[in-house]
Parts: sequence; structure tokens; C-alpha cells
Amino acid sequence: MLRVEKITHSFKTGNEWTKVLHEISFAVKQGEMVALLGSSGSGKSTLLNLMAGLMKPTDGHIFIADHDIVLMGENKLAEFRRKNIGFIFQAYELITSLTVRENVELPLVFQSVSPSIRKQKALALLEQVGLPDKADLFPSQLSGGQQQRVSIARSLITEPSVIFADEPTGNLDSKTEEEIISILLKLNQTMKTTFIVVTHEQEVAEQMQRTFSLRDGYLINGQHTDVQPAPTEEESP
Ligand code: ADP
Ligand code: MG
Repeated sequence: MLRVEKITHSFKTGNEWTKVLHEISFAVKQGEMVALLGSSGSGKSTLLNLMAGLMKPTDGHIFIADHDIVLMGENKLAEFRRKNIGFIFQAYELITSLTVRENVELPLVFQSVSPSIRKQKALALLEQVGLPDKADLFPSQLSGGQQQRVSIARSLITEPSVIFADEPTGNLDSKTEEEIISILLKLNQTMKTTFIVVTHEQEVAEQMQRTFSLRDGYLINGQHTDVQPAPTEEESP
């Protein structure tokens, strides 16, 4: 389903290149739910953004459903992302001027799906995330946890092959966090959606089927675990 091969990434700050990911390789099966764990600054968001095709790596390849998204051109990648990749952000990123239902429908508007089918799918998903009666409200009328449920419903509406979630419970209290994680676990069970969930909390990670950990840009466990060299300062990539 998802295969990451020797991904290396460097950022340029001023005249210096800093390598923030070092030859990361792993694979995730269809329907798996995995946690990507690591402390702040370890490279989790960078890796997630690369896997979601939001930016290109310095080196390496990323396959989603056998398509190499690193080699894809801009237009093809944009279309591929709309159809195959879902993303859940820490800050929900809902559109405040649209209702809950319109937010959930939005990805299908770009795919020219008819309004009646969009509505039907959005209402079914709002039911799935436990918000059947909030469809006509605006995001500002919901709690943080409810807004994140809306964003989860939105990420699912295109029936993507994989959903990436970057610290989806980072803004929420621990009770609400628990609710959101159990919704993700339930959706993984019922819809067989593949989830990659970034977290820096061990308790959250432990509920997933598998855990990968990053430390200073190195993968320190997961299925392709080699003995990692000690991190060193790198010159240009
Ligand atoms: P995490 O999500 O695990 O906290 P990030 O992937 O956001 O880590 O960051 C990893 C490293 O890359 C950090 O040292 C961070 O400062 C650096 N970094 C992230 N984004 C950029 C950027 N756009 N430009 C320069 N450095 C960046
Ligand atoms: Mg991050």
C-alpha cells in the first residue's frame, strides 16, 4: 500500500543544508493503522508531508498503491492526491464560512460529484463520527473535538487509499483525545482505511497495530531496522 524507500531530506537555512531525514525505509500494508512516534523536531511532520506528496524529498522514493509519487509531475500528483490521499491536521483546518456538511463535502466538489450524492455521503460520514445532528452548524459552533471529527469525516469522503494524520489530538484534552483515537480505530476496523498517525505520545501509539519511531531524523524501529549510525552533521545533500 505505502512503501518508503531510502527517503532523505534536507532543508536549506541560509547557506547551510541540514539533513532532517536519513535514509528512511519502511512499508505499510493495506488496512494497517500505524503510529509514527518521536519527540518534537525528530522529523515526523516532514516525513508525513513527503508521504502525502505535499513536498518532494531530496532523495529516495515513495510508492502509494504502486505509484511513485516522487516521480509524478505537479498536475498528476495533485489529481492523485485528491483521489487517493486524505490528510488530518492538528488545527482541523475547516472553512469557517461553510457549514459542517459543506466542509465534509468539499473534496467531492473538486471531483464534480453531484450535490445529492455529496450530501448523502457527507451525512453518512457525520453519522460515523458521531455528529449526526451537527450538519447545518458552522465550525465555530462546535468544540475542538467535534471540529476534529468533522475534519476526519472530510478526509474520508473521497475514500482515499491512505489517510495521514499529523498530531490529530495535539490541541485536545486527554478525554477528547481518547474519543478521537477510538473513532480512528473504529474507522480503521469498519472501513479498512489505512492510517498513518503522527503522535509524540506513547499511550496513543500503543493503541495502533504498529509503531515507527524517529529520533533526530533516523528511523529507530519498524520493519527495516538496521543498526543506525550515530547522527552526524551533514554537508549539502
Ligand atoms: P516534528 O514534526 O517531529 O516535530 P519536523 O518534521 O517539523 O519535526 O522538523 C524536523 C526538523 O526539520 C526540525 O529540526 C525543524 O526545525 C526542521 N524543519 C522543518 N521544516 C523546516 C523548513 N521548512 N525549513 C527549515 N527547517 C525545517
Ligand atoms: Mg510536527
